[in-house]
Amino acid sequence: MNEWLPTSTAGSLPKPAWLAEPETLWSAWKLQDRELIEGKQDALRVSLHDQQQAGIDIVSDGEQTRQHFVTTFIEHLSGVDFEQRKTVRIRDRYDASVPSVVGPVAREKPVFVDDARFLRQQTDQPIKWALPGPMTMVDTLYDGHYKSREKLAWEFAKILNQEARELAAAGVDIIQFDEPAFNVFFDEVNDWGIAALEKAIEGVECETAVHICYGYGIKANTDWKKTLGSEWRQYEEIFPRLQASNIDIISLECQNSHVPMELIELIRGKKVMVGAIDVATHTIETPEEVANVLRKALQFVDADKLYPCTNCGMTPLPRAVAQGKLNALSAGAAIVRAELAL
Ligand SMILES: [Zn+2]
Repeated sequence: MNEWLPTSTAGSLPKPAWLAEPETLWSAWKLQDRELIEGKQDALRVSLHDQQQAGIDIVSDGEQTRQHFVTTFIEHLSGVDFEQRKTVRIRDRYDASVPSVVGPVAREKPVFVDDARFLRQQTDQPIKWALPGPMTMVDTLYDGHYKSREKLAWEFAKILNQEARELAAAGVDIIQFDEPAFNVFFDEVNDWGIAALEKAIEGVECETAVHICYGYGIKANTDWKKTLGSEWRQYEEIFPRLQASNIDIISLECQNSHVPMELIELIRGKKVMVGAIDVATHTIETPEEVANVLRKALQFVDADKLYPCTNCGMTPLPRAVAQGKLNALSAGAAIVRAELAL
């Protein structure tokens, strides 16, 4: 593992075509029962191998174990009815048919702990595991029970805390909470979103990260991005509170985004996973393009706290494109590492 500028991905990587329909979100599994369990483990091994071939330092399961970064976790909870669907507006951006909260939510048994243990057995490298954040979970459901986004987020935070403690005990080095909703509901983030996140990481014995991005490269997101103007200053609204929070690492979208890099100054002191790979295009970055983003970030992040990363997950991309992007990330980080050594 590189001591300086260790590379990682934001989360998901493409799934093999024998496991699920490629280049699709929410893609249905092609296997069932025992075959599905083994298929996911085999896909995890392939995904890990791909990351290792590219020289990625902090590895993950490539999210081969789940269909969707929020839904799969919620499917394992009681209190949510997947048959009773309602249409809600997600992240104030697009309508989707979602499950309903119909009673108290609870985690009956661990969700990803066995999968994380399996990944831990495959490698001695540091591993990162992604969970949805409480606010993003709330924003992906219809709530007919608590009738309060804040109350529901608090219940989810308690459930996430149980899962996170067990993931850490299973040997996970970094637990990352995905909170794209943090980029939309600024008042709620500052009122209770960050507090709920801090509840989720309470007493968790490994490093913790929050991933705040502008979403996968799907049309609803790219259309929304066009409405945001030439400078994206969303992060500015939430960085001061995040800087004061207990979260260790903040994962951000920086490549090809219109986020002014100087905003990162507002979280000085935190470790920053700087997104240097754009997941919304099939064009593979050159190592020099990756290096440029990292050099800009170094003006505002201390070198020992800079973690080169991807903007978001790569599950909707063709496998060869994703692999090319992982290689570019490694090569770009190596350029800047060499410059720092001089
Ligand atoms: Zn993301």
